[in-house]
Amino acid sequence: KKYLNECIDSTFVSSVGQFVDRFEVMMAEYTGAKYAIAVVNGTAALEIALKLVGVDEQSEVITQPLSFIATCNAISYCGATPVFVDVDRDTMGLSPASLLAFLKEHTEQKQGGCYNKATGKRIAAVVPMHTFGHPCRIEEVASISKQYNISLVEDAAESLGSYYKGQHTGTFGKIAAFSFNGNKTITTGGGGMLITDDEALATRAKHVTTTAKVPHAYEFVHDEVGYNYRLPNINAALGCAQMETLATVLNNKRELALQYAAFFINQPIKFVQEMPDTHANYWLNAVILKDKQERDSFLQATNDAGVMTRPIWQLMTQLEMFKSCQKGDLSHADWLEARVVNIPSGVRL
Ligand SMILES: *Cc1c(COP(=O)(O)O)cnc(C)c1O
Repeated sequence: KKYLNECIDSTFVSSVGQFVDRFEVMMAEYTGAKYAIAVVNGTAALEIALKLVGVDEQSEVITQPLSFIATCNAISYCGATPVFVDVDRDTMGLSPASLLAFLKEHTEQKQGGCYNKATGKRIAAVVPMHTFGHPCRIEEVASISKQYNISLVEDAAESLGSYYKGQHTGTFGKIAAFSFNGNKTITTGGGGMLITDDEALATRAKHVTTTAKVPHAYEFVHDEVGYNYRLPNINAALGCAQMETLATVLNNKRELALQYAAFFINQPIKFVQEMPDTHANYWLNAVILKDKQERDSFLQATNDAGVMTRPIWQLMTQLEMFKSCQKGDLSHADWLEARVVNIPSGVRL
């Protein structure tokens, strides 16, 4: 409330203001990235990240079928086509082994790029996602991407406060996207952030998300088709305040996860815990049921009892828009889709 009042009193409630700058500095410092660029939501952040690494109508983008729809929507906004490879069963995130198997079998190197032998299109980016805040094997994904000349763009929307070998998620590739939607670890009402260590990318990101306006005292000069993807200052004020409480939020989430872990210890239901070498933010707690039938009865019983539980997303490969996209073997994603349920994860629980 204090920051919102300050913001209102300043009269700068819209697309520029000190809270935007401050929020960006806070995010850069927190994640350890050199640059952070605030944008209007996480989907817009992903779209711009993909565009800036060169994803276009002639491109394909490798991603996981087990993700929120925004990942594939952002790929589609660039005019590109998603290609799906499997996740690891333990991390629920993009599997380096599946990625490598796909690249070996289906691609060739040409003119410094990675090309899909079946379609002739360039695979311009790979987008792993850190599911529910559990880091995937990002170091391996990064090294495979590098070896194959594919840009790594991390969808870190769910993983603020999650680390792989002590390094914050979102800092392993060229650029990464975060979300501050209402359901995320912290919220700005709606909002997103790009982080990168690449100064040129950061400058481009700020420029194209703020209508590509060339700085001038009074003239309106725009040097390309830009976007109005600016995060309003009033939302950034919420972001600054939320960043100050992030440590408490993360502690509460970890405490809740520890209690769930203790409760489920000798149960047939498996509680998903952080992997070795990782520190998860426990954004959404998840359990793994025996099979689809047990998953369905668990969902029914809990919801009937007024306990909010939700299944993991339907695989992207089952949706009408992405049904015909090329895919590798997806047996882990299939297995998880039939069994994973999110259980209450509120920060006040
Ligand atoms: C929330 C989310 C996004 C998109 O964020 P919005 O701010 O809602 O646009 C992208 N990817 C994943 C995996 C998400 O969970």
